[in-house]
Amino acid sequence: MSRENLVLKVKPEWCKGCNICVHFCPTNVLELDEDNKIVIARPDDCIKCGLCELRCPDFAIYLEGDENEDEK
Ligand code: SF4
Ligand code: SF4
Repeated sequence: MSRENLVLKVKPEWCKGCNICVHFCPTNVLELDEDNKIVIARPDDCIKCGLCELRCPDFAIYLEGDENEDEK
């Protein structure tokens, strides 16, 4: 599966607002909202590098395969 088919997803209810992913994202995609929960502020800038998923201690952000993709 190519990286282009991955989709960035977040679980704000799992996010503790540590800001790690916001700092590690090389293209400044992420922000925390007023409740200190993760927001994908600029999804078009995401290069699907996976650094946010790798660094998040709470599994609140991850890349997932696009379910619309035909993999059969
Ligand atoms: S996958 Fe990479 S570019 Fe996309 S939000 Fe995470 S750290 Fe940023
Ligand atoms: S690294 Fe995880 S817990 Fe920390 S702000 Fe990002 S999504 Fe939230």
